[in-house]
Amino acid sequence: MEEKSNNLKSVSKPSNFIKEIIEEDLRTNKYNGRVHTRFPPEPNGYLHIGHAKSICLNFGLAEEYNGLCNIRFDDTNPTKEEAEYVDSIKEDIKWLGFDWGDREYYASDYFEELYEYAIKLIKKGKAYVDALSADETSKYRGTPTEPGKESPYRNRTTEENLDLFEKMRAGEYKDGELVLRAKIDMSSPNMNLRDPIMYRIRHESHHRTGNKWCIYPTYDWAHGQSDSIEGITHSICTLEFENHRPLYNWFIEELEIFHSQQIEFARFNLSYTVMSKRKLLELVEGKYVNGWDDPRMPTLSGMRRRGYTPKSIRNISEKKGVAKRDAVIDIASFEHIIREELNKSTKRVLVVLQPLKVIIDNYPDDKIDELDAINNPEDPSMGKRKLPFSKIIYIDKDDFREEPPKKFYRLAPGKEVRLRYAYIIKCEEVIKDPTTGEIIELHCSYDKNTKSGSGSSSKKVKGTIHWVSAQHSIDAEVRLYDRLFSVTNPAGDKENDFKDFINPNSLQVIHNCKLEPSLKELKTIDRFQFERLGYFCLDSVDSKPNKLVFNRIVSLRDSWAKIEKASKTH
Ligand code: ATP
Ligand code: MG
Repeated sequence: MEEKSNNLKSVSKPSNFIKEIIEEDLRTNKYNGRVHTRFPPEPNGYLHIGHAKSICLNFGLAEEYNGLCNIRFDDTNPTKEEAEYVDSIKEDIKWLGFDWGDREYYASDYFEELYEYAIKLIKKGKAYVDALSADETSKYRGTPTEPGKESPYRNRTTEENLDLFEKMRAGEYKDGELVLRAKIDMSSPNMNLRDPIMYRIRHESHHRTGNKWCIYPTYDWAHGQSDSIEGITHSICTLEFENHRPLYNWFIEELEIFHSQQIEFARFNLSYTVMSKRKLLELVEGKYVNGWDDPRMPTLSGMRRRGYTPKSIRNISEKKGVAKRDAVIDIASFEHIIREELNKSTKRVLVVLQPLKVIIDNYPDDKIDELDAINNPEDPSMGKRKLPFSKIIYIDKDDFREEPPKKFYRLAPGKEVRLRYAYIIKCEEVIKDPTTGEIIELHCSYDKNTKSGSGSSSKKVKGTIHWVSAQHSIDAEVRLYDRLFSVTNPAGDKENDFKDFINPNSLQVIHNCKLEPSLKELKTIDRFQFERLGYFCLDSVDSKPNKLVFNRIVSLRDSWAKIEKASKTH
């Protein structure tokens, strides 16, 4: 009995502190039963996996509580390239599987309302036009341990403030000459309350409002009011805004407008990468990577191109929960989720990355054997396919050693190995280039009684390798990726620039790989397991029908775990 009621409790208990707040608000009918969230990106870069956490959380809560989630571009800062970023952000959210309906908003849509709100504060004696220089302003601001000093312009009359603010808007002043500040408390222990700036003069054109404005609201002035205008009930943001909450509350209370509840949670961070848009932009502009959608980037467009599924990204967001303290998610646990999903869903195929020609001397010259190959041993419903076998095949260079170490169960002179779905072959002769000494081909024999699945031979060997019939193979380029940085937290080192930790081997391009013929007709979104090599997909940008390019999504095993384990035991 006891156990049962406990179980019941744990089932109905909200699974994180944000849900607890929402459910309490629903119980007390604080917002008339409404749940309305928003995702508020600043269109100054592409979205990354950290943003995905915020997207899944905001859209997910709205879904769960039958509410709504808006998308709102926080475009208070006029810059040049914003339109490109707006488009990419929308594409990424849709790709993750979320829909904002017709609720696509822009902070810049509220410029007029925000201006009216500012007038209201000026009239209440709660805002003033200041003429201190930027340097003076920061000196007057004080430090966290010392109170600030009031500006000599702080006590202008309301009329004077209204007049100057209107002239600021009309373009009568230059950039930086005047600002509008809230009149709060220069000695507050919370620095955000020391008369924060509400408006700056910037004679710059904006991607949506053009040249209509030359004064622009600060983020702090725009954000809470934008939430209020949209009737957002739960305004979810990351921890660095905790200290801004008293300011946002002050604005709302002074303006006497709808009060959204701000809730802070910990940022989602991933090991072996950087997550700030400024740093990602540096990587792009410095050509350390090939654009925002480089498959090594932690951006959603990079992960999409790499072949990660939206489901795996939603999964890692969900699995890691909502925290109140910053934590770093180990990329290995993310890769584990990706492997688990691809293991179930992908078709297996045979691909040779570094071809070594093998001639099977006792196999008839023109004979082609159509072998049965299983598409996915995890899922029989995915069926079988035919795999052609012929006298000349390719195997991977790695699967042959002239002088094999102990426990090398692949091919070596005089040794036998099984070819996947085919026969056991024996290496009879190694042919080398007479000048370079490089191995150019192997001559082998096959045992026709060892055909896979025929059960006609009792011969057993320890190793099985993949192969492709030479005359049936398709050429492709394959790109293998490794972590972009070689340390867990590249941005966490005060002495060194994060770019010093870029992994020089994060991209390996292999030309002239050989694919089995079933890979003839492909769609960009198809993903495969290349047996023994990892999970792969076509590169959506560089792959063309006459030049196939594949990306490795993830290897079959976590090769870093071994390295880390080894370095720990030393
Ligand atoms: P960055 O540090 O990458 O520049 P940002 O916070 O400036 O990020 P915004 O475009 O303002 O980027 O972010 C939009 C929303 O996504 C905000 O609500 C922000 O709190 C959230 N967000 C950004 N980064 C993360 C993260 N790493 N984890 C969780 N949420 C994040
Ligand atoms: Mg931000």
